[in-house]
Parts: sequence; C-alpha cells; structure tokens
Amino acid sequence: METLQNKTAIITGASSGIGKAIAHHLASHGANVVLAARRSEKLKELSDEVKKDYSVDTKVIETDVTKKEDLENLVKETKEAFGSVDIFVNNAGVMLLSFLKNDHVDEWEQMVDVNIKGVLFGIHASLPTMIEQESGHVINISSVAGHEVFPSSAVYSATKYAVRALSMGMEKELSSTGVRVTNISPGAVDTELTDHITDGDVLDMFKGRSTQTLNAEDIAKAVTYAVTQPDYVDVNEVMVRPMQK
Ligand code: NDP
Repeated sequence: METLQNKTAIITGASSGIGKAIAHHLASHGANVVLAARRSEKLKELSDEVKKDYSVDTKVIETDVTKKEDLENLVKETKEAFGSVDIFVNNAGVMLLSFLKNDHVDEWEQMVDVNIKGVLFGIHASLPTMIEQESGHVINISSVAGHEVFPSSAVYSATKYAVRALSMGMEKELSSTGVRVTNISPGAVDTELTDHITDGDVLDMFKGRSTQTLNAEDIAKAVTYAVTQPDYVDVNEVMVRPMQK
C-alpha cells in the first residue's frame, strides 16, 4: 500500500457522515485534508480532531457545491496552501426520497443541484489542475441507488446514475492523462442522510423497519484502498453493502 504523505485531498461534504470519516481515514494515512461543506463550525471541529490525532495539515473552506465559484475557490485556495490537488472526493449529497406522485419538485431540483451539478462543478474545478500535474485521483460517491431504483428513489437514483455515468466517462477519457477515477457505491450507511426526508408516505414506509447499516468508516476504507494503489492500478468501481440486504 502506498503512503499518502505529502498528498493533499479535498473532501466535499466533510461536515458529517461519510465525508467526515473519509477525512479521518485519509489523514490517518498521511494526507493533508481540505475540508469543504456549508457548516464551517463542524468543519473546524473536525479540523481540530484531525490535527490532534495525526501529523498532517488541514484547511477548512466553507463551500456550497451548488455554486460553481465556491468549487473554483476551493481548488485555488488548496493549491495556494499545499501546491497540488492529489485527491478530490465528490462526496457532498442529499437524499430527499419522495414518491413522484407527491410532486416534491423543489426537492428534485435540490438533488439535481447538489448531487449532479455539485459533482460536475467539482470536476470542472479540479480536473484542469490534475491534467496539468499529470496525476490525480477523483473519487465520486454514487450509491447502490445508482445501480437500482426503489419505490421513492426515482429522482435520487437518477442523480446517482448520473454520477456513475460521469465516473464511467472520466475513466474512458482520462486513461492517458495520469488522472484516475473511482466510483464508490455504498449501500445503507448510518449517517444524517435520511434526517432530511420530508415525504410523509416515505416516513410511514420506513416506520418500524429495521435495516442493517454500515458505518461511515466502512466506506472510508474503500476510498483509502482506491487511492493507495500503485500508479498503474485504476480502481474504477467499488460497491460496499451491508450483509443483510
Ligand atoms: P450526511 O447527510 O451525513 O452528509 C452529507 C454531506 O453533504 C454533509 O457534510 C453536508 O454538509 C454536505 N452537503 C449537502 N449539501 C451541500 C451543499 N449544497 N454544499 C456542500 N455540502 C453539502 O450523509 P452521508 O454522509 O451519508 O452522505 C455522503 C454521500 O454518500 C452522499 O453523496 C450520499 O448520497 C452518499 N450515500 C450515502 C448513503 C447512506 O446510506 N448514508 C448510501 C449511498 C450513498 P453541510 O450540510 O454542512 O453543507
């Protein structure tokens, strides 16, 4: 396994759940981590934790991934602070499950803005630098819902299929540039993700249902696995699910 010492990783959606775990795990392997999300207080807490636990540098950059300029600034400030962008984790996402008949059109828009446009803006901001460096690794967090559609997941799944399509396109287009891409598709993970669901029919459907979940760290390990392979190894797709489906 390669070390991540002197490498710099940007993680979007680092203020909770999977993004926070990825930041911890990459830092534990020696990477400097740039923490991006809207809740900067949470990012500052994480930055303090990471600095206390590992001998790496961190930077907190308040970022709304629906704003192209925020992503451009995120990469610019990272380069000024650390000189390179070695890993860019497109992790920020929202899962506002709803039934199509209930017409939560504002939430559809929000999911498209965060989950698709946010990832596109992350690619827009980081790829030119990685191509110039002739090295870099983009991690896109899709989902099992980017491979299958469930009742109430139609729009969320549409956004995660889109993330997977972007990963596949990057894999085909970038193979001669030194830039690698990994699409990670987690199954159910215990995070804040479901706290934002508002559709009463979905909440009723989940009432009393107990499903086995993964820990955020289980996904962080998959990210670390992908980014610590030798340069000639391109880990393109990883799916990690709980045993009980
Ligand atoms: P959380 O809700 O815990 O984390 C979501 C993160 O996204 C937060 O840090 C939040 O930060 C950030 N975020 C949301 N909107 C924006 C925005 N506009 N700009 C910047 N950051 C934003 O959920 P998870 O950790 O579970 O989710 C992380 C990713 O994993 C998502 O892409 C999700 O779809 C995917 N995933 C999760 C699964 C699960 O079961 N948990 C399963 C499969 C995939 P803040 O609010 O501070 O901006």
